[in-house]
Amino acid sequence: MTPDSPTTRAGSTNPARSADSYATCLGSALDAISQAVFIHDRETGEPIFENSTARDLGLARHEEAGLMRAIEEAVADALGGRFKKHSFSTFGPPRRDFVIHTKPAGDSSAVVTVVEDLTVRNQLDAIRRDFVANVSHELRTPIGALGLLAETLAYEEDPAVRQRLANRIQNETFRVAKVIDDLLDLSRIESEGATHKEPTDLVELGHEVVEQMTSAADTARVELGFSVEGAGFVIEADRRQLRSAMANLVDNAIKYSDKDSWVRVGLRHTEDGRIEISVADHGIGIPQKDLERIFERFYRVDQARSRQTGGTGLGLSIVRHAVSNHNGIVEVESREGVGTTFRIILPSTGGEQA
Ligand code: ADP
Repeated sequence: MTPDSPTTRAGSTNPARSADSYATCLGSALDAISQAVFIHDRETGEPIFENSTARDLGLARHEEAGLMRAIEEAVADALGGRFKKHSFSTFGPPRRDFVIHTKPAGDSSAVVTVVEDLTVRNQLDAIRRDFVANVSHELRTPIGALGLLAETLAYEEDPAVRQRLANRIQNETFRVAKVIDDLLDLSRIESEGATHKEPTDLVELGHEVVEQMTSAADTARVELGFSVEGAGFVIEADRRQLRSAMANLVDNAIKYSDKDSWVRVGLRHTEDGRIEISVADHGIGIPQKDLERIFERFYRVDQARSRQTGGTGLGLSIVRHAVSNHNGIVEVESREGVGTTFRIILPSTGGEQA
């Protein structure tokens, strides 16, 4: 397609469009894309076009100067007939990564330069790589242990030791199953959003969660209570997701509490009319420096304690995603050695547009 023979998508000529209006359309289309585009005259080396992204690369002045130098090098190479890919990264933070492609344009009288910002793609790749490495590690450890335990069991004759080994095999199997269950839960909550919203009574849900966690609390000798202030707690919500979020918070509160302490689940309206579900414990607390990282997948303050109590490091990610699917927020307040309170704050409509 050339400017003087504009064609429709089906390939037929559209005589109603002049070459000028066609060029204007093309310019607007190039302005709408996120890549920076420059066009240089191949004979004179003069710039003849740049799109709006090229005019504002969103960089600090010194970073932009660096990128412009890299672009000039790429253009100079292209004008000399060398069309090769160039890269440029800022030092940051935050570090930004760009790739610069050049191509001869149409009848080779010009050079087109396209600058692509790879920052987000590279960050997502890094997250994916870390995630795969973490999952592999989480599964490798118990599976390695299972292999050794089974080998030992095969040669062990003492019935008491055999029983202990069998118990450990059962525990390790349980750990693998829990990691897989949490991963599936997280992936479902992340990908689905909150698609199964129905009128949900949070009082009823609170009682269900407390009942479900009672035997874990009894085993840990932790007293578990539920208090409701006020009324009007029926919201449009994905029941399963909110139950999962509450259960994860209560499970943590029990896990990270010492014997003979207490965990309170609370439900109330906030002063600005939202709904607050709180889970407070009197446990080990979370150091300030870790507070902003605990919602990351697989992040644990104390690896050993988390493993020993059957933690997967995924519980709070599940909580965060489930709550954000309801347009809510999660807050945490904690003091080491004193205790922790998590608060889920939801719009009173359950995240539906009122
Ligand atoms: P885990 O399965 O390890 O409990 P989570 O994602 O649920 O993973 O929590 C991440 C980390 O946050 C935990 O490993 C723990 O260090 C810390 N944490 C979460 N809840 C509490 C709590 N109530 N008290 C103390 N530490 C907590």
